[in-house]
Amino acid sequence: MAFRSEYLAKVYEDIEKRNPGEKEFLQAVKEVFISLEPVVEQNPNIEKWGIMERIAEPERFIQFRVAWVDDSGKVQVNRGYRVQFNSAIGPYKGGLRLHPSVNASIIKFLGFEQVFKNSLTSLPMGGGKGGCDFDPRGKSDLEIMRFCQSFMTELYRHIGPDTDVPAGDIGTGAREIGYMFGQYKRIRNEWTGTLTGKGLSYGGSLARTEATGFGLCYFTKEMLASRGESFEGKRVIISGSGNVGTYANKKATQLGGKVVAQSDVSGYVYDENGIDYKIVEKIYQHRGLISEYLDYVPTAKFVEGPRNMWLDVKADVVLPCATQNEIDEEAAKAIVANGAMAVAEGANMPNFPEAIKVYKEAGILYAPGKAANAGGVATSGLEMTQNSERLSWTFDEVDGKLESIMKNIYKSCVDAAAEYGFGYDLEAGANIAGFKKVAEAMIAQGVAY
Ligand code: NDP
Repeated sequence: MAFRSEYLAKVYEDIEKRNPGEKEFLQAVKEVFISLEPVVEQNPNIEKWGIMERIAEPERFIQFRVAWVDDSGKVQVNRGYRVQFNSAIGPYKGGLRLHPSVNASIIKFLGFEQVFKNSLTSLPMGGGKGGCDFDPRGKSDLEIMRFCQSFMTELYRHIGPDTDVPAGDIGTGAREIGYMFGQYKRIRNEWTGTLTGKGLSYGGSLARTEATGFGLCYFTKEMLASRGESFEGKRVIISGSGNVGTYANKKATQLGGKVVAQSDVSGYVYDENGIDYKIVEKIYQHRGLISEYLDYVPTAKFVEGPRNMWLDVKADVVLPCATQNEIDEEAAKAIVANGAMAVAEGANMPNFPEAIKVYKEAGILYAPGKAANAGGVATSGLEMTQNSERLSWTFDEVDGKLESIMKNIYKSCVDAAAEYGFGYDLEAGANIAGFKKVAEAMIAQGVAY
């Protein structure tokens, strides 16, 4: 049995029964529950107030039709989602994912993780997530605009600056946020910071674009320092060449690391001289494929199949920044055998649980996404503050706040793990530190009679 506590075992069994086939969601819940065992044992109020039952059940789950017209005049239908998971500590906050793989399980796992992540930032934000099984790849700009407008024509009634504030995620960048914001404003006739990740000319925050990748490297820097190490001279590999991967490369390079390989869904590029983030950024900005890197640097190599990067490339620091469940047990063993000293997650849940076990058994450093990639949502929180103040801060001001938030998150994880007997286990620490604040707020707010 996965749990010592009868209460947790029973709650988890019920969750399995109520969410059949939702494997990503169940994986995320189980991982969190395992770390919370000592907290539950030491705090009888958690069981008394049904916190574990409530925390894994979204406050609201919305599914809707998104019909739009393609360039040939044909009507297309997609399925949209928004999960409003927990609002105990603030308005729901979390990104919108546009990808053909999106389904209820993926949206719920992301929303569940977001509750703890947002709590860790120490900003007043509850957890939510949304998206659609729409595939932006190959669509014209007008098709993207029509899709975003149709999506927002339903979503607008569920969100608002004090209710639920969506942001970007896979497939949703500044362009998509712009179209959605325009439609929200048109329908509501109000200008509020209801979406974050906006363009700079209409309420966006400097450093929001870079925040998740930069924050990941600030967190990794702290973690490396715990072993007297730094990025200086380290070989780094990064999966994903989208928003997170691009700016993780930039910051890792600025901190003295050398990114020798970087992937996207098609494969990876490899260059002993270092992958230039400025070229990756250019390719990302026009949504090209990473193999185009060779047009700029013909001496670099392209290898098909992103998974091969984990198997083949020697690296000290590994930054998975693409998607969930990219690294299985075999790939994790290869990462360890290739000499890694640290794995830090820019993506949400990129490692299977078996892979995390491999890192822990090998004694290498491991940073879970809900802590290490929290810089994105933290900076979204800073964007909300600037919108409310009707002010905008400088890049350095935002970046400075981001770095100090990431340092605080790291410290909270270290302290919580130590307090509950997990030693230096940042995964357990992140779950515990994120959970405690939310649970306390839920208890304080009572249950409707
Ligand atoms: P993007 O859509 O900008 O980029 C995703 C990148 O990953 C693309 O290069 C994509 O390639 C690539 N990719 C997809 N599947 C694979 C795979 N199996 N192996 C290798 N590469 C792959 O998304 P983001 O950068 O915004 O998000 C990446 C991850 O980070 C997600 O897990 C997201 O939830 C998480 N995250 C993002 C935040 C943000 O602020 N954007 C905040 C916190 C977490 P291609 O384009 O060719 O499909």
